Amino acid sequence: MVELPRSLPEFEARFPDEAACARWLLEKRWPDGFRCPACGHDKAWELGRERLTLQCAACERQVSVTAGTALHGSHLPLRTWFLAAWLVATHKNGMSARQLWLQLGLGSYKSAWLLLRKLRRAMVDPEREPLAGLVEVDETSLPFRAGGEPAGPGRSHGGKLLVAGAVEIRGKRPGRIRLAVIGDCSAVALGAFVAAAIAAGSTVVSDGWPGYKRLKDVKHEPTVVGETPAHLVLPWVHRVFANAKRWALGVYHGLRPAHLQAYLDEFVFRFNRRRTPHAAFDRLLGLGLTLEPATYQMLIGRS
Ligand SMILES: [Zn+2]
Repeated sequence: MVELPRSLPEFEARFPDEAACARWLLEKRWPDGFRCPACGHDKAWELGRERLTLQCAACERQVSVTAGTALHGSHLPLRTWFLAAWLVATHKNGMSARQLWLQLGLGSYKSAWLLLRKLRRAMVDPEREPLAGLVEVDETSLPFRAGGEPAGPGRSHGGKLLVAGAVEIRGKRPGRIRLAVIGDCSAVALGAFVAAAIAAGSTVVSDGWPGYKRLKDVKHEPTVVGETPAHLVLPWVHRVFANAKRWALGVYHGLRPAHLQAYLDEFVFRFNRRRTPHAAFDRLLGLGLTLEPATYQMLIGRS
């Protein structure tokens, strides 16, 4: 079990150079020793110390330690990736591309922005388990600012986007959360959110909004808010919304609509791994994920 560095000096000692990063990836990838993906042989030769590539001693297949990770094909040093992932994983509120640019001393703001986009892309596990048990669900609106990207902080006019949220309740504490941009508060939109985020058989607690009336596959406990302030009936989902809004303002000086879902995904990622930064670090490097290499066009896509 490799411990995650707890401070910058510890990070420097643990990952002093490219070879140390490559070695760490090697151990993560084959914790029980090398196994050739082509022929299953367990002996390999090491080619190159920095971008470690292994060559199977039997079939001569070459395997890069970065294959299948978020780092693959990047021109940036491994150490830059590791430091970026460590900063993003351990920093309580995360980082804007501008902060990352300054911290890493990268040549351009744009390369920091692209690096951060790739790290964010690794934040959503396509095979994550839906929320289950008792789940609070509600919707809110998030203000956004207009303007192209990449953009620095500054004043601009914007509007509001609707966001649905769900929080697992484990005893008296919140478990995992989900946040998603929704087009409207109709039964169709809210039903789709619940179906994607919450396992069948769960119990959904809502404020009794008609949009939740026709939920399928889950038990619904509408709590008619009436005179009672909504934050008393649905305390956790309201706290999550409030934190997400404060975070958006504090770290990003407001969110841009084109990437709102990516920002929400980052917030959810942080919240769900708030007690396991080492798991966050692994995931940010794309370990345990089978991602297609992301192109610039995919990352800036507005779909
Ligand atoms: Zn082989």
